[in-house]
Amino acid sequence: MTYQEHLESITRIGREYRYCKSIESLFELDQWTMLPPLGGDYRQQTAAWVAQQKNHLYLTEEAAREEAYFDGVSLAEIEDPVERGIIRTFLSRRRIAARTPEDLQRQYNLLKARCMQKWKEAREAKDYKIFMPWLKQAFDLKGQIAQAINPDAPAFDTLVSLTDEGAAVGEISAQFEVLQKGLRALLAKLAGGTAPAAVDYPQGDPAAMSAFAQSLARELGFSTDLGSFNDRVVHGFTSFMGPRDARVSTYRNGSHELIFTCLHEAGHAMYSTGSSQRLIDAGLWGGIEGGFHEAISRFYENMVGRSRAYWDYCFPKLAKAIPAFAALDPEQFYLGLHRVRPTLKRIASDEVTYSLHAILRFELERDYFAGALCAEDMADAWDQKYREYLGVEVPDDTQGVLQDMHWAGDYIGYFQSYALGNIYDGQILAALERDLPDWQQDLRRGNFVPLNDWMREQIWQWGCCFTAGELIRRVTGSRLDARPFLTYLDRKYSPIYGLKPGLPAEG
Ligand SMILES: [Zn+2]
Repeated sequence: MTYQEHLESITRIGREYRYCKSIESLFELDQWTMLPPLGGDYRQQTAAWVAQQKNHLYLTEEAAREEAYFDGVSLAEIEDPVERGIIRTFLSRRRIAARTPEDLQRQYNLLKARCMQKWKEAREAKDYKIFMPWLKQAFDLKGQIAQAINPDAPAFDTLVSLTDEGAAVGEISAQFEVLQKGLRALLAKLAGGTAPAAVDYPQGDPAAMSAFAQSLARELGFSTDLGSFNDRVVHGFTSFMGPRDARVSTYRNGSHELIFTCLHEAGHAMYSTGSSQRLIDAGLWGGIEGGFHEAISRFYENMVGRSRAYWDYCFPKLAKAIPAFAALDPEQFYLGLHRVRPTLKRIASDEVTYSLHAILRFELERDYFAGALCAEDMADAWDQKYREYLGVEVPDDTQGVLQDMHWAGDYIGYFQSYALGNIYDGQILAALERDLPDWQQDLRRGNFVPLNDWMREQIWQWGCCFTAGELIRRVTGSRLDARPFLTYLDRKYSPIYGLKPGLPAEG
C-alpha cells in the first residue's frame, strides 16, 4: 500500500467516526426536546450500540495495521497540516480505543450512575461525607484508565489531554499561576476604586426577549442556512450536527442575560460550521474541542457582547424591541454589566472572577492525582481556596464542593478548559487588534463582517486540524500566555472603577 492509500484508509475511518458522533448529537438533542419518558430505555440501547460502533472503528485489524504504519511516519516531516491533523487524530483515537481496559471502563460506567445518585443525596443533606467515598472511587478508577491509555504520562496529564488535546499540565499550571495572581491583584486594585451602581434591570416579555436575542445572533453572523434555534430547552448549548448544521438550544426568559447566552452559542455555531470544504472532506470539521471552542464562544459573548462599542450600537435596538428597557440610561445599563463581585458559584460569576473558579478546581484535581490531597480533605481544601482566592466563605457543602455535577458526571480533568478559553481569548484579541486595529469602530456600526472574516481566515476554516496549542501559535506567534487576558481586563475594568489602567506588580 502507498502512503496515499494508508491516508485514505484512516480518513475514511475518521469520517465514519464523525457520522457516529453526529448521530449521538442528534440523540442528545432529542433527549432534551422530544424524547417521551417511556422511549428512554430503547433509546439507551440504540445509543449504546452507536457508541460501540464508533469505538469499534478503531479496534479493527485495519485500524491496527494503520497504527503500525503511521507509528513509523514522522509527523514533523509531513508538510501539509491537514494530513498531519488526519494522522494525529487517528493515532490518538486508536490509542484511546485500543488501550482503554474494557473491565475498568465497565466498572466506571456502573459507578457513574451510583455516583450521580450519591451526589444528589449528599446535596440534599448538605454533607460531602456521603459523596466522598464515591468521588474517591471515581477519581481512582479514572486514574487507572488514564494510566492504561498512556503509561508514560502522569494520569492527570492524560485526563486533561482527553478534554484539551495536546495541553500540558505543567504549562497550564504555570499560566494559571500567573492568571490567578494577576486576577487577585486586579480584584484588590478594583476594591480601591468606585464600583458601578447596582442596576435594577427590568424583565421583558420572555418570548420577545428570546426573539430579540436570536435576531442579534443572526446579525452577528449566525446563518439560518447553517443552523437553527430552539428556545424551549432548560439551558444553553449547541449541538454540532454536521459541518453545515449547528443546532442552538436556549430557553425563554425575560432577562437581558439571555442575550449573552445567545451570543455565546452563536459563537459555538459559527465556529463549528465555518470549516473549509477540505477540512470537511478530511473529517476534521467543527473546531477544536475543549477550551478552544469555549474561547470562541466566550469571545462573542464577552469581547464583543459586553463591549461598550457593541452596546452603543445595540442599546437603542433593545429599548425599541423590549420597551421595559427604554427607561434605563444606556450608560447605566452598560456599567451595570461590569460590577465585579466574587461569588460562590462559577455560573453566577463575572468576567473578572470567572477564571478563579476554574483554576481552583483544576488545582484540587491536580493535587489529588499528585497524591498531595486526599478525598477526605477535598471539601476543606475547596473552602480554603474559595477563602484565599475569592474571599468568600462557603456556608455549606452544597454551595461548595457539591455545587455542580461535574465530578459525579464524568467531567474529571475538564475544568481547566473554562479558564484556558479566557487565556486564549486574551491572545486572540491581541492578534485581532494587531491585524484589525479599527475593529471596535466596526462593532459600533453593527458591522461584524471584518471580525468574522478574520476569525474564518485565522481559526474557523481549520476545523480541528490543529491542537489548540498549535493554532494559538499560528495565530498569535506565541505560546499559551495569560498576560494578554489580564491586560484586557485591566484596560476595561480600571476606567469603569475610576482608576488608571496599569497592571499591579505581580506577587
Ligand atoms: Zn460554551
